[in-house]
Amino acid sequence: MRVEDNLRSIQANIEHACKVSGRQPSEVKIIAVTKYVSVERAKEAVEAGIVHLGENRDEGLLNKWEHLKDKPIWHYIGTLQTRKVKNVMDKIDYLHSLDRLSLAKEVNKRATKKVKCFVQVNVSGEESKHGLNPGDVLEFVKDLAQFENIQVEGLMTMAPYTEDELLLRRCFQNLKSLQHEVQQLHLDYAPCNELSMGMSNDYQIAVEEGATMVRIGTALVGEKSEV
Ligand SMILES: *Cc1c(COP(=O)(O)O)cnc(C)c1O
Repeated sequence: MRVEDNLRSIQANIEHACKVSGRQPSEVKIIAVTKYVSVERAKEAVEAGIVHLGENRDEGLLNKWEHLKDKPIWHYIGTLQTRKVKNVMDKIDYLHSLDRLSLAKEVNKRATKKVKCFVQVNVSGEESKHGLNPGDVLEFVKDLAQFENIQVEGLMTMAPYTEDELLLRRCFQNLKSLQHEVQQLHLDYAPCNELSMGMSNDYQIAVEEGATMVRIGTALVGEKSEV
């Protein structure tokens, strides 16, 4: 499938999810996750009109970045080791995986301007997933006050890989209610207006539950995928 065709189906699905939940499609940005695919395929995505690209490893990011340079907006979506921060800092526009103060400290130190971050939350409580426990998020966000270059744009989560729609909805709803709690802190550095949630198998549900950024790999740029 061409990226363009996949994109059209995904956009139609997002429009439908917006319709049933009383939202506007313009509230939802699509991040094309290119971690599994070639530079050529990433280029095809940009040519199809994709503005946001996501990578989860520094090598992958640097490689794609070299070839596409400043065309797309770059999102770093994977776990980031502290020692790798310096490799990616001046290449990315958003960091979706802020999950510990040691990482915040290093990002703050290496930043040349304010870095737009998402605090990653492990809402499902699965041991394999990264992110803060929901109960620790408010304290964590308050602790970020000491880092002048960190801006909390929103919260991010990865839902479990499951067909259980109710479970998925509950995950996304939990992230949304946490977002509300962060907003109630009224911190200048943490407007927290964004929700990064939803992947190939669950983005429609995520949009219905309030996602403002969906991170889609397989269904969008996967070479064999169908939506
Ligand atoms: C790989 C990945 C995605 C995209 O996954 P798909 O299921 O291929 O859409 C989204 N978010 C994160 C953090 C990822 O690592």
